Amino acid sequence: NAKKRGRNRVVVYDDSMESANRERLQLENDLRRAVDLNQLLLHYQPQVNARTGEVTGAESLVRWNHPDEGLIPPFKWIPIAEELGLIDDVGEWVLRKACADLVELRASGHTIPKVSVNVSALQFHDDFVDTVQSALQESGLAAQSLEIELTEGVMVSNQESIVTMVHRLKDLGVRLSIDDFGTGYSSLSYLTRFPLDELKIDRSFVVGLAKGKQNVELVRAIIAMAKSLGLELVVEGVERMEELEFFRDQEVDVIQGFLFSQPVPLEALRALLAPEHFVRQLALLNRSTSQ
Ligand code: C2E
Ligand code: MG
Ligand code: MG
Ligand code: MG
Repeated sequence: NAKKRGRNRVVVYDDSMESANRERLQLENDLRRAVDLNQLLLHYQPQVNARTGEVTGAESLVRWNHPDEGLIPPFKWIPIAEELGLIDDVGEWVLRKACADLVELRASGHTIPKVSVNVSALQFHDDFVDTVQSALQESGLAAQSLEIELTEGVMVSNQESIVTMVHRLKDLGVRLSIDDFGTGYSSLSYLTRFPLDELKIDRSFVVGLAKGKQNVELVRAIIAMAKSLGLELVVEGVERMEELEFFRDQEVDVIQGFLFSQPVPLEALRALLAPEHFVRQLALLNRSTSQ
């Protein structure tokens, strides 16, 4: 059995393993204090209507400003936060900060319809709905201005408690979006079981477009399905003008990607929200491709 094997196992414990373990332990210790030490921050990536140049919203994307390592992207530490049971604290901080930032942006004269917040499957339990409600109350943000991004990992569950929570969220008036659509393992039945507003086409499908006709047909089918279910669509990870044109031809107008902007700090977002900013950028992009 495992115990026996464990006792007799010969462990080759070289220096690099030792230092990797030490680094990992250090990271865990630092992460435990990151929220309290105010080391988290949010970047925002605008979502832009590629027909009109209007900003339709912004997605909040968390970063950890580590004192020695600098800005650490989420894929390097969100899974650790989940493992250590810290994701509730991180998630609550993100939610409150995103709501407060949107209120502040509007108070200083910017127009922006909504902010999106990512929610980890592990964060999606009992008191999450209460946390959302209190973040809205404290910030004074209208529920329709907040969008919760859930992944298929949450939706795949048939658990009554999950279904109830999603409906309670919808009852609050927040918008519900399904992130990374088509990348998880799941049946499609959740699309009709849950009261969703939006589907985000994952970047992997955008990248796939250039790799063959079958991929193109797959994306077309996803778009048709989403539209017939009455879901709004956002395409994630658009970097190239050809990609934008493909989606515009399919009448998928809302684009989130490096073509328009990388995720930026709040102060830099202000410039992107200036009237006509993306109208001008679109005009330049359209001109450079029509020549
Ligand atoms: P996501 O929610 O699917 O976010 C989109 C990711 O795609 C972001 O990476 C964004 O920077 C990146 N992206 C956007 N446009 C482009 C593009 O044109 N090209 C390329 N190559 N990438 C693009 P980021 O910020 O590193 O976040 C990665 C993931 O980390 C997110 O994926 C989300 O799953 C997770 N995450 C971020 N913030 C939070 C958070 O506050 N809470 C939780 N639970 N997860 C978060
Ligand atoms: Mg997201
Ligand atoms: Mg995504
Ligand atoms: Mg993702």
